[in-house]
Amino acid sequence: MPDCVFCKIISGKIPAEILYENDDVIAVLDINPIHFGHALILPKRHCKDFLDVPEEMYHSILYAAKIVTHALVQSLHLEGFNLFSNNGTIAGQSVFHFHLHITPRYSDDDIRFVLKLKRYSSGEMKRYGELIRQFIHQPQS
Ligand code: AMP
Repeated sequence: MPDCVFCKIISGKIPAEILYENDDVIAVLDINPIHFGHALILPKRHCKDFLDVPEEMYHSILYAAKIVTHALVQSLHLEGFNLFSNNGTIAGQSVFHFHLHITPRYSDDDIRFVLKLKRYSSGEMKRYGELIRQFIHQPQS
């Protein structure tokens, strides 16, 4: 994808600090980290979001995530980490080439996800379960 910043990193058109690479995946340092060492796992094939990732890539993506997370934990003595992906503008996605974030966490880092948690009323959880189960299908890829 000519205008995709991650495709440009993958093709070597723009520089990045590469942590790990295999045939399917590249892992780089995020240019604006939540903490130093914040890493991104990028499939080499352009796919815009999680639902667009081909099934044959699933293993490579998680395999790379585990290798890189392990390296972060050991090298930076992490006390914990977050692994997440923003999908869609409303969810905070700013680069429309699927990626996993791996962010270091420390006990004194004062980062909080501010969530307003809801409660299901009586029978509502069951109704949501019934609705969603009607759409459980094999992934299309
Ligand atoms: P998201 O907002 O979840 O789509 O995440 C995109 C991430 O890509 C952000 O955390 C950016 O800091 C990061 N990013 C954007 N451009 C670059 C780049 N050239 N090299 C490394 N990371 C980048």
